[in-house]
Amino acid sequence: MSAMNTETIENLPWCIEPNEGESISHYFGRFRRHEAVCVSSPGSLSKAAGIGPVLARWEKFRFNPFPSQKKLEAIGKLIGLDADRIAQMLPPKGEKMKLEPIRLCAACYAEQPYHRLEWQFQSTAGCNRHRLRLLSECPFCKERFAIPALWEQGACRKCHAPFRTMKKRQKVYS
Ligand SMILES: [Zn+2]
Ligand SMILES: [Zn+2]
Repeated sequence: MSAMNTETIENLPWCIEPNEGESISHYFGRFRRHEAVCVSSPGSLSKAAGIGPVLARWEKFRFNPFPSQKKLEAIGKLIGLDADRIAQMLPPKGEKMKLEPIRLCAACYAEQPYHRLEWQFQSTAGCNRHRLRLLSECPFCKERFAIPALWEQGACRKCHAPFRTMKKRQKVYS
């Protein structure tokens, strides 16, 4: 899509529901790729909402300064989602984020293919649901994972191994 088209985004007619615990990075990547939306860059969406270039930062889990209520309302209005729902995809107050590496519980991903926000909390050591350690890189080729906004294929960006197949390489966490 051309830059000209992306600059004329108006209130979008589709509401795309976030999944339980989905990270803001994964959500906005999914949103932008949705066939009814097709916005190629976080910049275009940010601009259409009139909130400056912050979305690209949020997609990298950079929340400094923390997203204001005003910005959440502006982007929420554009995409048809309450500011509260967007706020749920952000870390709770006091929860420190790990920007890198991007982490994955492949067993969770095999059940429902999306990046969970809590995987990026500094306080998260493993997946409590599966009692497995999180992966910080592809177990097959050691490439680090892309930011979740780019998880279109659900696979390693280098060797293309599907994320779901990586669960057998996760170590037990107790
Ligand atoms: Zn899990
Ligand atoms: Zn790989």
